[in-house]
Amino acid sequence: MSLREQLCEYGRRAVELGLVIGTSGNLSVREGDLVTVTPSGAALDRLTPEMCPVVDLTTGRRVAGETRPSSETPMHLAIYQTTDARAIVHTHSVFGTVVATTMTELPPVHYNALMLGGVVKVAEYATYGTPELAANVRAALEGKRAALMANHGGVTIGATLEEAFEATRLLEWLCEVYVRGLSVGKPTILTEEQLAAVVERALNPPPL
Ligand SMILES: [Zn+2]
Repeated sequence: MSLREQLCEYGRRAVELGLVIGTSGNLSVREGDLVTVTPSGAALDRLTPEMCPVVDLTTGRRVAGETRPSSETPMHLAIYQTTDARAIVHTHSVFGTVVATTMTELPPVHYNALMLGGVVKVAEYATYGTPELAANVRAALEGKRAALMANHGGVTIGATLEEAFEATRLLEWLCEVYVRGLSVGKPTILTEEQLAAVVERALNPPPL
């Protein structure tokens, strides 16, 4: 599947799973110094490959395609410039946005949070599409695979679009567990020791 086809495929899945509504959310994939991104103002379940523009990683200039790149392209480029990410998924998923509007971080209530780097930080609020927002998100992502964006949504990175997309699904699941947990009682937060024991266990599985 070409990179453009991948954007269409995962865009469709993001809508199907209710991770985005309307024209919100955007995805991108990096190859070398080029970034293929979803277009501005288009519903992610109605994309066609030729609708996805390609931009230069450093200058942000469009080098292929006819459409305007997503308004969050500056954020995508800032992330690529400072991480090993090869794909980025940004959504306004419900539970992620709930956490991002009420908290400063998502604490590790489940050991699967380790797959995103443990605690997920909420990047400080800034207007969408601005360099300020890009800088805030970049800071919150340091050493992590995911970040939330205050009063906005979430963003995840991966070595492939599939990886970034699965990270988004996991982030949303963790946020949902935490938010629903809060409505029932006081969720227990895993300690550093408990998390270290999980890493130890994963690195040294018992013999078959
Ligand atoms: Zn957004």
